[in-house]
Amino acid sequence: MAEPSSKAGYYVGVDLGGTKILSGVFNHSMETVSSNKLSTKSQRGVEAVIERVARCVKDSVDEADLTMKQVAAVGIGAPGAVDFANGTVIFAPNLEGWKDIPLKKALEKQLGVPVFVENDCNICALGVYVTELKSKPRSMVGIFVGTGIGGGLIVNGDLYSGFCHTAGEIGHMVLEVNGPKCGCGNKGCLEALASRTAIFQQIKAGIKAGEKTILSDMLGNNLNDLRSGDLRKAIRRGDKFVDRIIEGAAEYIGIATANLVNILNPEVVVLGGGVIEALADEMMGIIVETAQDYAMPGTLKNVEIVASQLGDSAGITGGAVLARREAK
Ligand SMILES: [Zn+2]
Repeated sequence: MAEPSSKAGYYVGVDLGGTKILSGVFNHSMETVSSNKLSTKSQRGVEAVIERVARCVKDSVDEADLTMKQVAAVGIGAPGAVDFANGTVIFAPNLEGWKDIPLKKALEKQLGVPVFVENDCNICALGVYVTELKSKPRSMVGIFVGTGIGGGLIVNGDLYSGFCHTAGEIGHMVLEVNGPKCGCGNKGCLEALASRTAIFQQIKAGIKAGEKTILSDMLGNNLNDLRSGDLRKAIRRGDKFVDRIIEGAAEYIGIATANLVNILNPEVVVLGGGVIEALADEMMGIIVETAQDYAMPGTLKNVEIVASQLGDSAGITGGAVLARREAK
């Protein structure tokens, strides 16, 4: 429990997702003091979601036995294009009705502390960069594999967000011109080939086509409860079908890694997100090998390709890092 103090020495990081809101209170050393989770309920509308974000923050602060007066700032990652300078969410495809929403202004009014807004994957990259890599490398690429695939770029020690704040859309790198349809409208994006959604679709299609898998014994006919952890269990029990699908996804991520290394030549490539968290042992070796196969000779020399240990808390950690940086 935190010592009572009138000094505003704490930071709150928030990860606003399409299905859930996570918030976490951190001390100045970026250690977690408390965390909290609330469903997003985006169908209730923009105002209701902002209200729920504020509630999630206040509850996590209360859980830490603190008051909002002891919070120096809040940093929040939103799932879409964000104008960091004015804290507006320009567009968020997974949140109903989110277009040009002044999130910073609305939350500052409800919380009474400074609020800073960034793209969610940028914030995950920032969290990994500052807390796991201790800001040591000058450049880093973060690839986050979950429901979708997102990315964040650190260039010269800072987030690179691009001309219209949309840089780092690694998930929409096209790898198969005539590949499966992607949520963005294109075909063959990395996200449509290797995200959790894509992996689950391939598994369901395979089972329909008569493939034998332990997953059917584990979950019966209801594959709607399928989780990344089930895939790990199946592979460890010798499931060749699941193994083949995960290998395919890892290869695509490896090819994307090679493309990014060719273009950016970063010091470190960090893989994160729920799929990597659950399947790091199964996927990382293939990702590294495939990247070596496809990268230009010499470009991967001394480049580290590693898995993040932050898992689901990368977003809230990054939010707190952003809050600490901006509150100075
Ligand atoms: Zn796409």
